[in-house]
Amino acid sequence: IKQIILASRPKGMPDKDNFKTVEITLPELKPGEVLVKPRYLSVDPYMRGRMNDAKSYIPPFQVGQPLEGGGVAEVTESKDAQFKAGDLVMSTGVRPFLPWATAAIFPGGDLRKIDSSIPPTTYLGILGVPGLTAYFGLLDIGKPKAGETVVISGAAGAVGLLVGQLARIQGCRVVGIAGGAEKVKMLTDNFDFDAAIDYKGNPDMSAAVATACPNGVDIYFDNVGGEISDAVITHLNFFARIPLCGQIALYNSTEVPIGPRIQPIMITRSILMQGFTIGNYATRFGEGVKYLSELIKAGKLKYTETVEEGFELLPDALLGLFSGKNSGKMIVKV
Ligand code: NDP
Repeated sequence: IKQIILASRPKGMPDKDNFKTVEITLPELKPGEVLVKPRYLSVDPYMRGRMNDAKSYIPPFQVGQPLEGGGVAEVTESKDAQFKAGDLVMSTGVRPFLPWATAAIFPGGDLRKIDSSIPPTTYLGILGVPGLTAYFGLLDIGKPKAGETVVISGAAGAVGLLVGQLARIQGCRVVGIAGGAEKVKMLTDNFDFDAAIDYKGNPDMSAAVATACPNGVDIYFDNVGGEISDAVITHLNFFARIPLCGQIALYNSTEVPIGPRIQPIMITRSILMQGFTIGNYATRFGEGVKYLSELIKAGKLKYTETVEEGFELLPDALLGLFSGKNSGKMIVKV
């Protein structure tokens, strides 16, 4: 079988040399074990952090070992009576752990069957980590009220598209920030955003935010950080909330990123900023999935995904997240 391993740790933006494809032979299946083939693997921005040798909320990838992440796999052979060939499975744990491999062996207890009547990729997107991140980040931390203005950075990505739609459902005015004319058109035309700003074509982001948000900003759902956030923060209203979800603009920084001191604005306007990782909400995932599933059934939530086909494209797809190659969830079909 093939595996893609971490060949070396990147400095700054990773490139293809940080990955290597190797061939290995898997051992014979033991009683209680299941052989699976990954069908859809998720590539996600947080994986960049795991390429560093740094202590975090999730352990780093090891050099010489396959990368791993979320995914949906198909059982091809089973010595656990709970599973049979053809079953679609995911991990039981909160931590995503399918290796970047064309096949892998797991104890049956580490796997759970998924409902094959639902498109399998939705478990990686709208009903998976991005969906839950949007739901808990917006509703639990952002606490939107009808009539408020919500600004979302990284708005055309997996999390951002959902935050926008959920905020609209709450009766908010929704403004998205994304890179490129095509993406901002998609936000307003296909996803019902009230306005959208192309940060790539905009020399004065602060003025663009002011124009798009005539009543100021009540919630800033931040996926990106850096200069985009600097431009939004000066337009925040009294008692604004910032669910701090991601800082993708900084993940490849080689120096400590610096920017304006925002604390005086936060004090004088009583602004709340709260960082979170979705694992904090693990005991409430059922509630999130139920909420999102009902909206999907009612036709009130849309999603899109970028699916790259071919195991060998995993590194490209991961790197593509940092150049905005994706609209909605980025997935590799193995
Ligand atoms: P996306 O689908 O949004 O993909 C990443 C997008 O980020 C790209 O498409 C690109 O869009 C944008 N981007 C990349 N580099 C930059 C840059 N330098 N400046 C501005 N935009 C950039 O990924 P996800 O929806 O999965 O994740 C979005 C954010 O949420 C990430 O920061 C991620 O780390 C975070 N996250 C946090 C979680 C948590 O538990 N806190 C859970 C899941 C995700 P564009 O073309 O518009 O530039």
